[in-house]
Amino acid sequence: MAKKLRFIIIGAGMAGMLAGIRLKERGDHDFTIYEKGNSVGGTWRENHYPGLACDTPAHSYTYSFATNPEWSAFYAPGPEIRAYFEGVADKYDLKRQIEFNSEIAACRFEGGRWHLSTTDGREDVADVVIAATGVLHHPNVPDIPGLKAFQGPVFHSARWDHSVPLEGKSVGVIGNGSTGVQIVSAVSKVAGKLTHFLRSPQWIMPCPDLKYTDEDKAAFRDDPAKIDEVRNGPEAAARRARFTAAIIDMDSPELAEIQTICERNLEESVRDPILREKLRPDYRAACKRMVFSAHYYNAVQRPNVDVAPGSIERVEANGVRMKDGSFHELDVIALATGFKVDQFVRPMEIEGQGGQSLDALWEEHPRAYYAVTVPGFPNFFLLNGPTGPVGNFTLIDIAEAQWGYADQLIDLLRKGECDAVAPSMAALEDYEARRTEAAKRTVFASGCSSWYLDKYGIPQVWPWSYDYFRAVMAKPDLRDYELTQG
Ligand code: NAP
Repeated sequence: MAKKLRFIIIGAGMAGMLAGIRLKERGDHDFTIYEKGNSVGGTWRENHYPGLACDTPAHSYTYSFATNPEWSAFYAPGPEIRAYFEGVADKYDLKRQIEFNSEIAACRFEGGRWHLSTTDGREDVADVVIAATGVLHHPNVPDIPGLKAFQGPVFHSARWDHSVPLEGKSVGVIGNGSTGVQIVSAVSKVAGKLTHFLRSPQWIMPCPDLKYTDEDKAAFRDDPAKIDEVRNGPEAAARRARFTAAIIDMDSPELAEIQTICERNLEESVRDPILREKLRPDYRAACKRMVFSAHYYNAVQRPNVDVAPGSIERVEANGVRMKDGSFHELDVIALATGFKVDQFVRPMEIEGQGGQSLDALWEEHPRAYYAVTVPGFPNFFLLNGPTGPVGNFTLIDIAEAQWGYADQLIDLLRKGECDAVAPSMAALEDYEARRTEAAKRTVFASGCSSWYLDKYGIPQVWPWSYDYFRAVMAKPDLRDYELTQG
């Protein structure tokens, strides 16, 4: 007899929606998705800054079961991606099972079930919790002296204030990860003056600015194999294999090739040798998350654009003072300063077996067995959790593989083979020891700062090949799991 389980999914972003759709497909209709925002789409709801796009090819950045022939470009703009998720939620009739504006405050495992409460005091109980909270959603507002005293508007990239006009204004953009580079590429077209503050210049990977024509879309519509070709064809596979080989081994020829492409892009795109040197990083390409852009080097060569390398001393009432004493007068400051990435499911308070807290287990840094399960926290599954693959992969693909893994463990509960499933602490420790050793050899540890690193400088990421990730996710090794009854 199959046991009927109740599920709670936390988050209605890409991964939470995936879990809901997969549960429905399996006939597991007893689930609720709790979402702190007022609509689906997660990061694509929260981010709406000018220039927002996804630098993973659009046809790869879709669910495998909901491909989309209508993408307007090889790299889709943010609003189109948000509309895609809205459309998928409607197609699979998910919204009826989503509690919007509902932030989970606490989850407690007691009496063999998970007891959850929201920040406004509602309670719910489930057999299984799927934590699909994402990682890049707590804005990092830097502690720059004087920032609060700036007399003009200041906002973080993930809280963009569209009521602030930028036309003709002096705009400062602080930060040059993927977000800052996309913002500068767009806002430089309208601002009177734009200053891009670069604490650490970034290597820029050139990429095509390819728009799909009506004929292209019709071809994708008429022949789904053409979409599959973009997603899984030899070119996509080779690109993934090359990138994986480069990041897991800092001495690889693949990384040397990426370095050459980025250096050539800088040499050939930026005419002024002084500007070129201001833009040249002093660390290796792909050490930070690779920035792809077809437009950034053009943008910084516009006459109304200035780059300000180095560290900021303080923000003054009407601009930014650099440590070298130079001053940049500004009307508006946009903070493209990234996210607090060690949060994952926090600030939720999560209590597992015997009242143990996840915060205590994660005191050093967030950890999960193969990025999905946590010892002492049975029937609790993370999608896009800590130490999963990062870089320029599609997180949808990653979440789908992780769901396939979690679903096999959930199946043990469905079939009544156990009431609770969690990895052993020994399995997590073995995984972490192997992972840490391999992580030290990745390019992420080759000498730069980034959000991949913990306080000891060790990358908290998947340090092995993508194929190995797929292989591990294909079937859980039950020898590493504790299955309990009652
Ligand atoms: P990020 O990669 O963490 O970059 C943050 C930037 O802010 C860095 O340039 C950092 O400089 C700078 N910064 C932070 N504090 C500063 C301070 N006090 N003074 C001066 N500069 C400061 O953040 P992000 O660009 O928002 O990107 C986050 C992640 O989002 C990316 O890694 C990517 O995974 C994702 N993303 C993806 C896309 C896409 O197209 N797929 C687009 C946007 C974002 P340092 O380098 O010196 O620390």
